[in-house]
Amino acid sequence: MRIRFALPLLLSCVFLVGSPSLASDMALVGARIYPSPAEPPIENGSILIHNGHILAVGPTATIKVPQDATVIDCKGLVVTAGFWNSHVHILTAGLLHAEKLSPEEVTSQLQEMFTRWGFTTVFDIASVLQNTALIRRLIESGEVNGPKILSVGEPFWVKGGTPVYVRSFLETNHISIPEIESTAQAIGRVRQQIHDGADGIKIFANSIEQNGILTMPLDLAKAIVDEAHRAGKPVFAHVSNNQGIEVAVQSGVDILAHTTPSDDLWSSPFAERLTAAHMALTPTLTLWDVEARKGNPSSDQIEKGMSRAAQQLKAFSQARGQVLFGTDVGYIEQFDTSEEFTWMSRAGMTFQKILASLTTSPAQRFGYSNRSGRIAQGMNADLVVLNGDPAQSTSAFSRVRYTIRDGKVIYSKK
Ligand SMILES: [Zn+2]
Repeated sequence: MRIRFALPLLLSCVFLVGSPSLASDMALVGARIYPSPAEPPIENGSILIHNGHILAVGPTATIKVPQDATVIDCKGLVVTAGFWNSHVHILTAGLLHAEKLSPEEVTSQLQEMFTRWGFTTVFDIASVLQNTALIRRLIESGEVNGPKILSVGEPFWVKGGTPVYVRSFLETNHISIPEIESTAQAIGRVRQQIHDGADGIKIFANSIEQNGILTMPLDLAKAIVDEAHRAGKPVFAHVSNNQGIEVAVQSGVDILAHTTPSDDLWSSPFAERLTAAHMALTPTLTLWDVEARKGNPSSDQIEKGMSRAAQQLKAFSQARGQVLFGTDVGYIEQFDTSEEFTWMSRAGMTFQKILASLTTSPAQRFGYSNRSGRIAQGMNADLVVLNGDPAQSTSAFSRVRYTIRDGKVIYSKK
């Protein structure tokens, strides 16, 4: 038997004697483990978790589980690193006005939206920063179970560019998001939001209005992006057409929040240009289906629209563009992720590519590669235990048995 981990285990036991409040170690035993998209699976593997971190991972025979460890039998189950959803909104009725909600209510909503689908980290790309920051504090203090939340807070849109589809929502919920009147005002707001805890900035390069699409002037977009980058923060752009993508590319935006199925298909040179600009993409394919159904179309019409969105993702993925899994959940009420995985597969994305979009790619993009995205010694113990192998059928990505964050089970399927 290998004794590679004996020393850290011994040290940890000594440490634990003096710290009775620390949770006991946890071990996931007997799983098929995908440590990362680039590595082969470990058959009959085990993972030992200590103090919220991964202490050891390998074939079960090589992992010594401490006697007092909590053991989760993972025979027949599959384990991957915890998922990221890089396009969500903390805006549902179950999360807005969090000061009026009980911890149980907040946990329950976070479970329905995120943790039961395996998300241990989410990037909220438009919400009310003060409210999102409150939820984040509740999670970090342990009062509420939920994912790690990164947030851009309030988005930036031009004068007259409050999107037509959010106007009544904002009014009903007494949310005021100022329209940008000047570059100086925009820069001031970028600084303020980052000061207040925003992890990124979101611009509306396009706003859908009653009588057409409004595009943000390039110089304004540039000023906002430059200010965010000065603070080391990524910038997301909502786009509705290729003109908006042009503004995003030229201003130095980091992440496109959508494909643009109502505009031209993406040619290879077009997709390669996005890649050359180091642009990432959250596909949000489910969103297009949800939106299309509002108009009561035929199934043939839906299929045509979805195929266009899938083609754009395919072109981007084939050009080696960085895809970040993202569904727009919180704007859409469809929490189930299985449709997104089906469409990502139809766009030609392999199991490895989809797993990367859920784990290593967002971790890399947002600067968390040294602690998130892979199952390896020393990484955060953010893990998803699946009831099925997504390498065989991508829909298994949505069949979550347990979600573990920082070594704590935050979702367990009943
Ligand atoms: Zn969105």
